Amino acid sequence: MAKLLEGKLLAEKIKEGIRREVASLKSKPVLASIMIGENAGAASYVKSQQKLAEALGIEYQLHKLSEDTLEAHLIDFIRKLNVNKSVHGIIIQMPLPHQIDYKKISQFILPAKDVEGMHPANIGKILSGRAKILPCTPAAVMELLDASGVDLYGKEVVIVGHSEIVGKPLALLLLEKFATVTVCHIGTSKAGKLEEHVKKAEVLIVAVGRAGLIKGEWIKEGAVVIDVGINRLADKIVGDVEFEAAGKRAAYITPVPGGVGPLTVTMLMRNLVEAAKEQQCSI
Ligand code: NAP
Repeated sequence: MAKLLEGKLLAEKIKEGIRREVASLKSKPVLASIMIGENAGAASYVKSQQKLAEALGIEYQLHKLSEDTLEAHLIDFIRKLNVNKSVHGIIIQMPLPHQIDYKKISQFILPAKDVEGMHPANIGKILSGRAKILPCTPAAVMELLDASGVDLYGKEVVIVGHSEIVGKPLALLLLEKFATVTVCHIGTSKAGKLEEHVKKAEVLIVAVGRAGLIKGEWIKEGAVVIDVGINRLADKIVGDVEFEAAGKRAAYITPVPGGVGPLTVTMLMRNLVEAAKEQQCSI
């Protein structure tokens, strides 16, 4: 049976380091969180971010804007936060109302305050291995891989899912480690080639959002399996990989929940502290 890669435990260790960094800063780091309209999912993310921020000595400022906020108003709001020296990081909560285009809006966040690591300037730095602020979920996956002790050099790594927030930046981070990276997506599945690719993975990372997409019997013996997917079924939350069956073949596997999720929010806070450090140095 595979060993569990528990993000929860790893997050506790990383949090200790963040607390020390916070204590060494000139002033309390401040995260500005913008939430537009009411949404149960966003409210639950905000709650967990608030709780963690408080535990780490970070100030969490929640800015609630109305459901009918226009893009121009939001851009103006972001610009004010950009020039506010007491704010070190800015995050926009998802989902957004239909009149707001996240891709367009997120570019107005100053790259130095982009704690989600999604500004094109920050993504671009990953290409040259110079990024200090990494997108949170890919950073969480890299931490889990590190914790598994796997040496990525020359390994067959297969990523399923090529979204801008997970699969694509992750592929770049893995290339930096000299892994041989294959990225699968809907086209791979439609071509009937998903199983073939997954079967050769020494390291498999799945971020799709479809329960049971990856069959347990496809997992290579001794593989490291990171399941990013979150699927809410009637009675439980599961990932994209058939956990029980995959666990019989893999060497390491992340549970869902309790794997990547708890680390992702920790990475957000780590990015904030990194951003605060840079900004306090440049004052
Ligand atoms: P997304 O933007 O919807 O991307 C899903 C990806 O899966 C896309 O690249 C899509 O390809 C691909 N895909 C869809 N059906 C497929 C299939 N049958 N075979 C192969 N690929 C397929 O989602 P996301 O934001 O990346 O999130 C993915 C999952 O991870 C979700 O369950 C989400 O809740 C979870 N997640 C978890 C965390 C965490 O902290 N644990 C963080 C972020 C996301 P096309 O775009 O070409 O259709």
